[in-house]
Amino acid sequence: MSEAGDLTIKMISVDPSSRGYALVIHGGAGGQVEQLSETQRGRYAAGLADAFQAGESILAAGGSALDAVCASVVSLEDNPLFNAGLGAALTATGEAELDAAVMTGDGHAGAIAVSRHVKNPIRAARKVLEDTDHVLLVAPSRPLADSWGLDTVDPSYFVTEVRQAQLADVRSELLAASRHGTVGAAALDSRGQVAAATSTGGMVNQSDGRVGDTPVIGAGTYARNGVVAVSCTGEGESFIEGVVAHDISARVRYLKAPLADAVGDTITTELRSRGANGGIIAVGADGRVVVAYNSDAMFAAYRENGEVITLA
Ligand code: ASP
Repeated sequence: MSEAGDLTIKMISVDPSSRGYALVIHGGAGGQVEQLSETQRGRYAAGLADAFQAGESILAAGGSALDAVCASVVSLEDNPLFNAGLGAALTATGEAELDAAVMTGDGHAGAIAVSRHVKNPIRAARKVLEDTDHVLLVAPSRPLADSWGLDTVDPSYFVTEVRQAQLADVRSELLAASRHGTVGAAALDSRGQVAAATSTGGMVNQSDGRVGDTPVIGAGTYARNGVVAVSCTGEGESFIEGVVAHDISARVRYLKAPLADAVGDTITTELRSRGANGGIIAVGADGRVVVAYNSDAMFAAYRENGEVITLA
């Protein structure tokens, strides 16, 4: 199931700052980072820094965790390097089928799956949260997106030459199906509310119609005020079967586990035990930030001791 690697857990845990808010974002987890040139890694780092800034500036101005996580994710969806929105990974037949979810700590969520027309899938997920009685919509139509006032595009907008070449390589078995690029964000705002958002094109060469963990609330995305906000990336089937994001929340809520322990224990029991790899970002109710992964590498950004740190 997993790419190369020994599934060792890499754990970053950043103490709460005095700012009263916190943000962490990710740009996917996987292997083969060593195949990227310094210049390419610099581009990923710059994309992550821009997206972090987009979300953090909202929090710094007293804005909501919901607005912040959506702003960061929109920035990454618009960046063709990442596997979300423009430049998403392609299905076996070369289509972009996009999944996204957002959840606020008051217990409400919105998600879309197999989306082909909305330019920014996370905005559609937010519409489901705010403007419908539903949680998950599959294949939202163009007229529906228009009625929400969202920008729509031809499905070909999402398909880049780089992703077509990647699909061809994976299909001819020249390349293992690297998964770098799914994106997500988790935040705590100055009113103590948390939110999490995740957006993806899924796994390269996946079956048409396959839906991963990203839009499954409790699997790839979860938030609960007073507890945690979580966004995941990795082999989605294992995150669904292990109900990973909710498992972390339950450990903090019921076992009173420190956040880093909760994340580490969930990776061990729900991912490593399945031979799966991936990465998790989380923000605790006190503003602690955790980035953990058992893949070879993970792309992420957060602030520590006043400095924005990018992992790329
Ligand atoms: N978790 C995503 C999925 O399974 C893929 C990823 O995070 O790279 O669809």
